[in-house]
Amino acid sequence: MSRREELAANLAELRGRIVDACVAASRDSDDVTLVAVTKTWPASDVRVLAELGVTDIGENRDQEASAKARQCADLDVTWHFVGQLQTNKCRSVAAYADVVHSVDRGRLAVTLGAEARRRGRVLECLVQVDLHEGGGEERRPGGGGVAPEGVNRLADIIADTEGVAVAGVMGMAPWGADPATAFGLLTDVGERLRKIHPDATMVSGGMSGDLESAIAHGATHLRVGTALLGPRSVDVR
Ligand SMILES: *Cc1c(COP(=O)(O)O)cnc(C)c1O
Repeated sequence: MSRREELAANLAELRGRIVDACVAASRDSDDVTLVAVTKTWPASDVRVLAELGVTDIGENRDQEASAKARQCADLDVTWHFVGQLQTNKCRSVAAYADVVHSVDRGRLAVTLGAEARRRGRVLECLVQVDLHEGGGEERRPGGGGVAPEGVNRLADIIADTEGVAVAGVMGMAPWGADPATAFGLLTDVGERLRKIHPDATMVSGGMSGDLESAIAHGATHLRVGTALLGPRSVDVR
């Protein structure tokens, strides 16, 4: 099987899972966006996925993401930065990212905003929420996020910063916890956010292993790597 056939088969299976979960949740599958997380996989895979109709690409490391985005500059895809972000990477990220899922402190928002303004761009920002309150024992490596109580305050900082816009919330279900509890909390936090920022409609939750639960609890964006591209040879989370 060629890589293209493999990706096409994986995508068909994944789309089937998404449709089934939407049916079970009485949701329209058009309201759920698949973000293909292509970390560790080559730009050629991004190209194939785009040809297969994937419109949104996610990456979690700036160095890899910036190179890939350059190699794929001719593609009409939306780039999502989903990984932990340091302020010294904001300049680079602001050059190619359209959406940043991992804003968890004011300094990041302010720095991203300044860098986006320099380029005449506006970055959509999601507040990353720490969902461990939901009962998980173990911290996910690389999992950051603000406590649910801190989300609206950080959102206000984003909203007050030119160059960035509050687009919603993002979260990861803690390992070992019931994803339903975590995604239920994420949705509640998103609803509270929309009372003050009505345009913040994105709820980014759900990965290869728990996307059904995320859909059941109202996620609008799924970040899927393994189920689409295959197992990664190195873990870079
Ligand atoms: C790698 C990654 C994903 C995708 O995880 P899979 O389990 O491979 O689907 C989602 N979100 C973030 C933040 C990631 O780093």
